[in-house]
Amino acid sequence: MSSSWQLEKTLLALVLLTALAILARERLLLETLVVEPGQGYEIRLYDDHDAGGSSEVKLLPATEEGYQWQCDLKASFLYPYCGFEIRLVDAWQGLDLSRYRQIELNLEYSGPNKTVRLFLRNFDPRYSQPSDDTTTKYNQVEFAANPEIYQYEFSFSDFFVANWWLLEKDIPPRLSHPQFNNVTSIDIQTGSAHQAGLHQFRLKHVKLVGQRFDTADWYLGIILCWAVIILSFLAFRVYVLTQEVRERKVREHELLEVNALLDSRSQELETLAKTDSLTGAFNRQGIEEAIKNGLYDWRRDGKALSIVMMDIDHFKSINDTYGHGVGDAVLAGISQLVQSHIRSSDLFARWGGEEFVLVCRNTRINYAAHIAEKFRRMVAESEFEQAGQVTASFGVATLRDKGGIDELFRSADEALYRAKERGRNRVELAGSL
Ligand code: GH3
Ligand code: MG
Ligand code: MG
Repeated sequence: MSSSWQLEKTLLALVLLTALAILARERLLLETLVVEPGQGYEIRLYDDHDAGGSSEVKLLPATEEGYQWQCDLKASFLYPYCGFEIRLVDAWQGLDLSRYRQIELNLEYSGPNKTVRLFLRNFDPRYSQPSDDTTTKYNQVEFAANPEIYQYEFSFSDFFVANWWLLEKDIPPRLSHPQFNNVTSIDIQTGSAHQAGLHQFRLKHVKLVGQRFDTADWYLGIILCWAVIILSFLAFRVYVLTQEVRERKVREHELLEVNALLDSRSQELETLAKTDSLTGAFNRQGIEEAIKNGLYDWRRDGKALSIVMMDIDHFKSINDTYGHGVGDAVLAGISQLVQSHIRSSDLFARWGGEEFVLVCRNTRINYAAHIAEKFRRMVAESEFEQAGQVTASFGVATLRDKGGIDELFRSADEALYRAKERGRNRVELAGSL
């Protein structure tokens, strides 16, 4: 829904429509059928000649007020009659009038009878034969008629099936109720008092009033409409929510990917910030962290923390002899050599220029000296491209109770200085003379 009030407005409109469908039901469902003789409907006049009588019926000139006919009923026969028939359809396929509730007649009668008979003739193959007109069911109503009245109204429930017809056609009880599902004609006949004399009729129209649908079906339809609307709405909501959840998942996934990228990038940057670009060894910042951790271990667990300081011998002359580039290559080569042989707990860093520091956590000074000696030999025994053999001097120190970190570095430096003094390419321990 585009706007937040859209749903409420739609609901309100639907509720109003429902109220309208309920309140105006009768008007909405009203169905009328006006049958005017001659207007598309065939008419037929009949009398009792076929039954052995001698009554005579004849059509009078039609007026604006409808069809007129006259019946001269003769008493020569026990049940004299004559009538006027409007054929609703041909070939025995009648009209289904079962939806209609009321029938209105615009009729004028004058004559010796007090009543007139109205028949709705229904064809049903269970009792009717196409070859015999009298086999259609005589749904009948007989009403008091007089020249003062023009308008007559009957309910379909007023009709009953003519008793003489039930007897004559031997109709079983299950078929003896009034039926209007296939009405083939509307019949107006002289009353059952059979008074001889002149009977005059004028018929304008017959109006049928009914309901398009059954009331129960109407309400069922309204309920079904609501059920369909609610189900469609629910299906729509489920669809929208599923889409939203899917989109959210995609966004979350993207966010996670971005975060992971940023994390790895910031780690890379952090490593870069702690790394010396020429040698790949840690820089001074990298040392700081290793020293902090070592100090922590030393204070808490009393674990020894030793460092080895290394300075390349006569490095200046390498630069001078072979050029700065070769000097750089020697720095990188020595750094690589040491880094590939240190323990995972040790940290190797470039202290500055051609000086390096190896931080050995949880290592006593003697073992650190042993490590320094190993590297001294390794460097001295290696051949460096162009520069050939290179040596380095080492000063080893360990953290003491007094003095702290400053003292540690100072004493390592002193030891290194001593190593230079004593001829280079050697290892010296702080505190030993
Ligand atoms: P000693 O044996 O006494 O240590 O002699 P040395 O020549 O190695 O000592 P000195 O401190 O006099 O010389 C160090 C030289 O290292 C000076 C400087 O030009 C050079 N150096 C410092 N950093 C770099 C660098 O990144 N690359 C190169 N190629 N040389 C460097
Ligand atoms: Mg130096
Ligand atoms: Mg040097």
